[in-house]
Amino acid sequence: MNFQTGNDDAPALRIIPRDQHAISRKSISKAALRVLYRLNEAGFDAYLVGGAVRDLLLGGHPKDFDVATNATPDEVKKLFRNCRLIGRRFRLAHVVFGPEIIEVATFRGTGEDDTEGDRHIVDGRIVRDNIWGTIEEDAVRRDFRVNALYYDISDFSVRDYVGGMQDVADRVLRLIGDPVTRYREDPVRMLRAARLAAKLEFRIDAPAAAPFEALGPLLTEAAPARLFDESLKMFLGGHGLKSFRMLEQCGLLKFLFPSTARALERGDHALRSLVEQGLANTDARVIEGKSVTPAFLFAVLLWGEVRDHAHAWIAQGMELSEAWARAAAHVVGEQCQRVAIPRRFTFTMEEIWSLQPRFEQIQRKRVFRLLAQPRFRAAFDFLLLRAEESPAMRELGQWWAHAQQLPQDVLAAALPAASGPIGPDAPAAVAVGRPPRKRRRRRKPSGKSGSA
Ligand code: ATP
Ligand code: MG
Repeated sequence: MNFQTGNDDAPALRIIPRDQHAISRKSISKAALRVLYRLNEAGFDAYLVGGAVRDLLLGGHPKDFDVATNATPDEVKKLFRNCRLIGRRFRLAHVVFGPEIIEVATFRGTGEDDTEGDRHIVDGRIVRDNIWGTIEEDAVRRDFRVNALYYDISDFSVRDYVGGMQDVADRVLRLIGDPVTRYREDPVRMLRAARLAAKLEFRIDAPAAAPFEALGPLLTEAAPARLFDESLKMFLGGHGLKSFRMLEQCGLLKFLFPSTARALERGDHALRSLVEQGLANTDARVIEGKSVTPAFLFAVLLWGEVRDHAHAWIAQGMELSEAWARAAAHVVGEQCQRVAIPRRFTFTMEEIWSLQPRFEQIQRKRVFRLLAQPRFRAAFDFLLLRAEESPAMRELGQWWAHAQQLPQDVLAAALPAASGPIGPDAPAAVAVGRPPRKRRRRRKPSGKSGSA
């Protein structure tokens, strides 16, 4: 751990009294206040810390409240009945209030002097970090200066050890300490820089951004499960589109989603607008408080690669459904080596993809079978997104939207009974309520999903 704050004139402790900052107890969750007061009354130091303090200073609504204290996890446990101790890498106390969990962390030290606990560093990376320390030490081991501000429940002041208040005012993310050392300790901090810059609309300080190119490859060694968690924070937190653009701009996308990054670098404009529209729709849903599934979003991000593989294998003569199933399995297999998407999500992704070619088979039995699929809704939403790919796809999406509105008998009467895919004329005919034209054999038999 590097104790410096990046320059020799490291700022000393600055205490900002209650009347000089914007944090009001009204904006702090009741649960967090209870934890802070209880610790304080028991004689411990207790602070709100991290993202919550930063977001409150910026006038935002923190989604979680973290507490830092000089009480050890065992001491915290003794104070709260509703408390469980978790974590190996970082031992923490969780105090549970119904759906809300307040994370209480003991100040972590550096292990260089008289401290208790243990720390393990392998190849410059911290793998276990349970050394208790002082608040000063706790501050400098945090990532960005804006994330190292402490709200003191004993006098409602904010304590700033590293210059975080200045950065909040300047809207900039500066790392604490030497950027290369800090990214080597934990490469995920590079993703956090991109994510927080997107979420807060802050710029990343030049020295914090400079190592991305050289150290980005370290992300391929990060734990895939952690990268999955970080991906959810980036893409499902309501700032997905901005995070995605920021990741790309920082040159980090290719370490998380290599195939997506490659396709976009090749200038696949249709894929770009599909991905961006998918992220924008997800952001809108999150902001409206609607549910979002990681499966849909990952299906969007990886679509280009799945589609291209399926088309290539179909062109080589592989049967349609097998080609799609194999393409899906192949892309999921590769992706999960980087970002460990849990099986329950990859399963849904594979279903969404493999239903896509079936939207092009406008024939009575097949249409009704597809409408009855449990995954129809997600697959249809995905089809609507594919309107970004081509006008034919847009038309197909409109046809299916209309088909769902029709009474079953009307729809059945309008559909040809014959099997096999028919041309894009048929959907249009049904959509405007005309009887479908006589089925015309296409000159080229096509197993492809018209999206090429
Ligand atoms: P968000 O608003 O997305 O929750 P956050 O900054 O609160 O952002 P958390 O993951 O909740 O992010 O982390 C809480 C705090 O823990 C951070 O503000 C920071 O002080 C510290 N922290 C988190 N991850 C790291 C890391 N990889 N290295 C150093 N400090 C970290
Ligand atoms: Mg947080």
